[in-house]
Amino acid sequence: MRPERLNPLFAAADSLKGVGPNLSRPLERLGLSRIRDFAYHLPDRFVQRRAVSDLDEASVGENIVISLTPLEYRSSAGRGPFRVLASDAAGNVCALTYFGRNAGWARKQLPLGEKRWIAGRLDQFGQMLQIVHPDHVEPAGAGLGQLCEPVYPLSDGLTQGRIAALVQQALGHAEDLPEWIEPTLLEREGWPKWREALIEAHRGEHAAARDRLAYDELLANSLALMLVRGANRAKVGTPLTGDGHLRTKLHLPFALTGAQRRAIAEIEGDMAQSAPMLRLLQGDVGSGKTVVALEAMLLAVEAGTQAALLAPTEILARQHFETLRRMAAPTGTTIALLTGRDKGRARESILMGLMDGSIQMVVGTHAIFQDTVNYRNLALVVIDEQHRFGVGQRLMLTQKGKRTPHCLAMTATPIPRTLTLAQYGEMDVSRLDEMPPGRQPIDTRVVAIERMDDVIGALGRHIESGHRAYWVCPMVRENEVDDLAAAEARFEALRVRFGAAVELLHGQMKPEAKDAAMERFVRGEAQLLVATTVIEVGVDVPEATLMVIEQAERFGLAQLHQLRGRVGRGEDNSTCLLLRSDMLSETARRRLALMRETQDGFRIAEEDLELRGGGELLGTRQSGDTPFRVASLEQIQRLLPLAHDDARLLMERDGGLTGERGEAARLLLYLFERDYGVQLLRGG
Ligand code: ADP
Ligand code: MG
Repeated sequence: MRPERLNPLFAAADSLKGVGPNLSRPLERLGLSRIRDFAYHLPDRFVQRRAVSDLDEASVGENIVISLTPLEYRSSAGRGPFRVLASDAAGNVCALTYFGRNAGWARKQLPLGEKRWIAGRLDQFGQMLQIVHPDHVEPAGAGLGQLCEPVYPLSDGLTQGRIAALVQQALGHAEDLPEWIEPTLLEREGWPKWREALIEAHRGEHAAARDRLAYDELLANSLALMLVRGANRAKVGTPLTGDGHLRTKLHLPFALTGAQRRAIAEIEGDMAQSAPMLRLLQGDVGSGKTVVALEAMLLAVEAGTQAALLAPTEILARQHFETLRRMAAPTGTTIALLTGRDKGRARESILMGLMDGSIQMVVGTHAIFQDTVNYRNLALVVIDEQHRFGVGQRLMLTQKGKRTPHCLAMTATPIPRTLTLAQYGEMDVSRLDEMPPGRQPIDTRVVAIERMDDVIGALGRHIESGHRAYWVCPMVRENEVDDLAAAEARFEALRVRFGAAVELLHGQMKPEAKDAAMERFVRGEAQLLVATTVIEVGVDVPEATLMVIEQAERFGLAQLHQLRGRVGRGEDNSTCLLLRSDMLSETARRRLALMRETQDGFRIAEEDLELRGGGELLGTRQSGDTPFRVASLEQIQRLLPLAHDDARLLMERDGGLTGERGEAARLLLYLFERDYGVQLLRGG
């Protein structure tokens, strides 16, 4: 249970004054649902204002604070703006300009003849100086106000002022917490205490405060992963040795690559130990992880135990099931598929088979770990990881019960080495860094959005010549509802052009509908699959040889790489068209160029980190490809090694987290919702 002193921080957003139903949607979009989220909603940057007594002192384009006296109202005809002419102490005149229906409000804020503090950006309009929509208008007695103001990430329906006020309210709920950072480190880095750091991070560009908060998050993550690892080490597993009688029956149509053989040997070595395996199999899309998993699963069966494969989605579970069943057929092993959808008799019979051991291998979604599912002797769990989430929580699933199964996590994300540490901490890693021979390179092109007609023309020819294609819709703002709307609109448009050849696939569809759409595409009845990023992991249709990705600049490169990996799987040459908007930053341009240049996932991951990690001043929030919200890529690179060492030291001294710092560290784990680590402590 969460320590009581953290409860105020985890109270719902609507306990803040002024948050009602109207704000809940926009706040949700920003991921702000509890007080804690507001406290950690850090500004992207700050505007610095200069106080001037006289307009002559200020330059156009500058953010200023100045005392002005309104002289005259000027309404313009039609939809033109409303202007308030105001003068400074020296008699210089400046217009305060309001667009839209703000005239009434402006009159009230700016009564004629009464001095006001005005904050805003000084612009020029023809011969006249003006401030459009001043950021602040305060009575003259009120003092200057803040000269340095935070600029927050916003969503529709929110203003800077609103969000800043909510953040300040939220910070009022934060009490001092006991220190979890090593005192010497805190001193050496000159970092403030937790509460102070939060307050300062919202007040100005305090690098030390930002670093401290990022470090907290990294420390929480490292600790949680170490706790999972520690709990795992303390468990007893089943040492497994197979005699190879099943594996020799596999008739693979290819020779394993060196990397595959190495990985299999490492896994075999781990599984022979009584300490449960905790290994990550890291390999780019198409590097052949499935057959490695199958070898491990067959080994478990040879040793008289059961093996399970956990997939992130139903589609992938089904696909893995089909593949494994086909490949394992000559071995005569029994394999079942279990998802949340199976009900009634079919489900009962699978549960029975798992309990009596007649089912030797099972593939499924997290349904395979529900409490109602009992295994006779499950000794190996393979987790096919959805790359966006840390693996810790999933590992938790496997740590129940007295005998802990060996665990092999698979990830297709070639993340940079620094991030491997962040995501997977203490796991052993096998890398498939060698592609099976004979892969066709994918012809990748970056195409401006204005050429949409040409793209659709090319798509038409592609389909008419009997080929299949994917169309990936933009991520509007990492928000499912908006993404969905974009996908549906594109689907409708393409449907008008291509009729029944088009299918739509997105995350909100019912599982049956998803399967049906996928089936039609797999069988070639539909030739064009319009999809959100649900297709990014795993989906395998070798006949699909064209991929169009809309607003490619909005995707992380790792994600683009995953998406592109859906084509280039068959004999024929494949093409990937990255549609880009017309206004691109230099970095965005270079990122897309990198996609064109290489297909080496590890290189893409490393260079993307460089490209984005570079010129960041404050943090750029990473929601996509790291498990962090506070720490920026640059901070991860710089601070993660420290956090990692610190976590290890703490674990060595106080592995049960019962000492003073240990107790504080528990608070930290809850604060960053890595409390599965704490739960393991209790259980083990
Ligand atoms: P991943 O899951 O790592 O993306 P898969 O396991 O789906 O990759 O393998 C991709 C394709 O490569 C499959 O069609 C698989 O049969 C094939 N494959 C795997 N290993 C080899 C190999 N050593 N030589 C040739 N083809 C291979
Ligand atoms: Mg795979």
